[in-house]
Amino acid sequence: MIERLIADLPVFGIPFLRGTILYTPGRMAVAEAAEPGCTAIPRAILEEASAAVERWQALAQSPFRPVCLTLNLTSRCSLKCGYCFARNAGRGSQAEDLALPAIRAAARLVAGFCAAANKPFQIVFSGGGEPAEAWTILQAAIEETRALAQAQGLEWRSYLATNGSLPEARLRWLARNIGKIGLSCDGPPDIHNLQRPGTNSHPSLPQVERAAAIIREEGGNFSVRATIAPLSSPRQAEIVRWLHQRLGAREIRFEPVYCAPAGSGFRPEDAGRFVSSFLAAQRVTRELGAGLSLSGVRLDEFHGPHCNVLKDVLQLRPDGTATNCFLAANADTPQAAIRTIGSFDPATGEYRLDHGKIAELRRQAAALPPRCLSCLNVYHCARSCPDTCLVDSPGSAEPDFRCRVARSLAVAWLLEAGGRRRGKAPGASVRSLPVPLWARRGFTWDGAEAWRRIAGYLRQAPGDRPMSVYVHVPFCRSRCGFCDCYAEAAGNQSSPGIGRFEADLLSEIDAWSAAGALGAAPVTTVHFGGGTPNCLPGALGAAVARIRNSLAIAPETEWALESTTSLLSHGHLQWLRELGFTRLHVGIQTLEDDVRRSIGRRESAEASVLRLADALQMGFIVSVDLIYGLPGQKAAGWLATLDTLAGLGIDGVSLYSLQTTARNRNFLARLAAPVDSEERFALFQAACQSLSARGYRKNHFAHFAASRDANLYYRHALRGENLLALGPSADGCMGPFLYRQAQLAGGFPALAGALEMTGPQARARAAEAELMANAISWELFESLGVSSLLCEWQAMGLLEPDAAGLRLSTTGSWEIGGMLDALSGRVMG
Ligand code: SF4
Ligand code: SF4
Ligand code: SF4
Repeated sequence: MIERLIADLPVFGIPFLRGTILYTPGRMAVAEAAEPGCTAIPRAILEEASAAVERWQALAQSPFRPVCLTLNLTSRCSLKCGYCFARNAGRGSQAEDLALPAIRAAARLVAGFCAAANKPFQIVFSGGGEPAEAWTILQAAIEETRALAQAQGLEWRSYLATNGSLPEARLRWLARNIGKIGLSCDGPPDIHNLQRPGTNSHPSLPQVERAAAIIREEGGNFSVRATIAPLSSPRQAEIVRWLHQRLGAREIRFEPVYCAPAGSGFRPEDAGRFVSSFLAAQRVTRELGAGLSLSGVRLDEFHGPHCNVLKDVLQLRPDGTATNCFLAANADTPQAAIRTIGSFDPATGEYRLDHGKIAELRRQAAALPPRCLSCLNVYHCARSCPDTCLVDSPGSAEPDFRCRVARSLAVAWLLEAGGRRRGKAPGASVRSLPVPLWARRGFTWDGAEAWRRIAGYLRQAPGDRPMSVYVHVPFCRSRCGFCDCYAEAAGNQSSPGIGRFEADLLSEIDAWSAAGALGAAPVTTVHFGGGTPNCLPGALGAAVARIRNSLAIAPETEWALESTTSLLSHGHLQWLRELGFTRLHVGIQTLEDDVRRSIGRRESAEASVLRLADALQMGFIVSVDLIYGLPGQKAAGWLATLDTLAGLGIDGVSLYSLQTTARNRNFLARLAAPVDSEERFALFQAACQSLSARGYRKNHFAHFAASRDANLYYRHALRGENLLALGPSADGCMGPFLYRQAQLAGGFPALAGALEMTGPQARARAAEAELMANAISWELFESLGVSSLLCEWQAMGLLEPDAAGLRLSTTGSWEIGGMLDALSGRVMG
């Protein structure tokens, strides 16, 4: 959440990964602190903030001294764009063209101000009518104002907006005589020709392509302006690529369509997707070495709405009068706030300004609408101009489309800049992993009460909600020293501990299946994890049989098992097949033999690979767990591991960073120096790239899957399923309850406790599930009012666009814990 840190100064704090961006217009700093409010504010920021307040006051009060002359020469046009704000453009009407005497007088006035301020003389030939339709006047205005500037020792700067539909000779002349030509082009043919047809409905794009080619040939300078409408909004990256490839555009400005007829413009709720698409386009533009901007919010400039009076621009309409509004292409443009602020006096040959009216308009345009007072864009935002004019009203208190876009983009840009400023790879931080809600918020009830409540809930709940089942078996033949899982050495298979575990597990299955209609709930997957569940064949077989008898297992129910390869002999695999298992999740860790030996893996890499191959051959879906960051691990060995597994046709790969906990600390301390965090990130990144390049898709934040691997258990929350967790220390979910099983304690009920989710917690959990399963939908984030987070994460490089929408980047997978925290903070407050 953005926070204004000082009541009377525009100083803002924006949470940024594990730090804060401190921002005031014109300056930012990155503080590595957790809470914006706790961060000391550098003096430079405070000074800049005071200066910003003073600058804005000066802008509102300073006298009008125009140093730019903008001319709407004519309202005639060769096109009839559907969104044109100049209502009679394109009609080829008898509408008058701007007369030269008025231009000369206005130019003299502006040149005087330029000379006094020692500034270049700027002339702009604006759209809202095609300037080149008034060709004679255009040429004369160019030549005369250039001569005028020269005579006064002023630099002459010029800009001309054009639709490009001009005869070749005129284009060549303009390319040689205008400083910068702004070509209007909306992108590929299906967009451009639809939005910008000619007056007799002919496609106008060929003319624009030809114009760009001619300007380039003449060595002229041009930029491209593209109007983005709701239909073309999702295609902004494609538009940029097209403009760059086909026109050679290097400087592009996008404008969301304005003053659109009712029902055809953007709605406030479109802002998030517009921004996301814009950020994707901006990324493409950077890759192409070009630039993309939006006029509504320019962080590097102090600006308000587009009023001429605020910008020291003298804009003349075709009838010779001057206007305060950039939209006033002709006298009958239907903008209530278009006021005449000057006119040409033929008697004296002078151009006269109404300074009283101008001062009042300037004050109105610079007034800060209440909703902007606490916004970080307060001094660089066009606000809702021109859709809603700021001169007559402060606008609605509710943020409209333009406001939402400006706010979201500004934050995104600052976060992007923060990432660059910080100058550290994300891997410099320790990986941020998800933390269960019960660990963050604590249990509401202890185990006994938790069971009573959940059982009560299940008595009322319908029995048709699908569920996944997870069974935790906390035993291995012997514990691997590097492992941080909750598992004990099985040792003597007949030990009373194992017998008690088996009996308890069967009682749990009986109790849960008899709770309400749970026994009738369709089961999607039964996943045995651990530990090594198949190191206790008796308990495993008994649990499988009891689950089959007690729960609604269907032929399509998936049976999945976590195992090590050392148990997966051919005979054992056949036995697993007979039990019904179809998916294996195998702990491989790495295929680097020296590293395997050092962490206590008994089998050689070669033997493990043979067993995986056998399992695949038998038709199992085989997924592997790999660990990066193991002592002594090398990038080459790590990548070779991935190559071998992918070459084998493995179905899925889960990537885990070595965790050091009380369970493995002593063991790891005896090994080679640990791999540092930055190097781990590099290993993770390399693995993500390697697997993506081989066609694996991330279907959980650190799991890469080939087409057969649906990774059902890890994605149960995405499907809105209950999760029946059985066995010590397992985490489950029943309706609104999140519960945890106790560790090996004996007896039943064996719950450690439960939390009943509030409405916001349940909603946040749904979005968390999408994020973790890398299946983000705008709709859900929008319905929760947190779609701006998606833009922010995109700007930070945590999400990246793909054909299906936004997906977790490698950095996003690395920082997933922080993202989940931010999400739940935003949804739950
Ligand atoms: S080219 Fe410009 S002035 Fe002409 S119709 Fe299109 S938007 Fe209007
Ligand atoms: S219009 Fe919106 S984004 Fe712009 S300054 Fe006001 S509140 Fe901020
Ligand atoms: S605020 Fe009003 S007068 Fe000023 S440019 Fe915008 S629409 Fe025109």
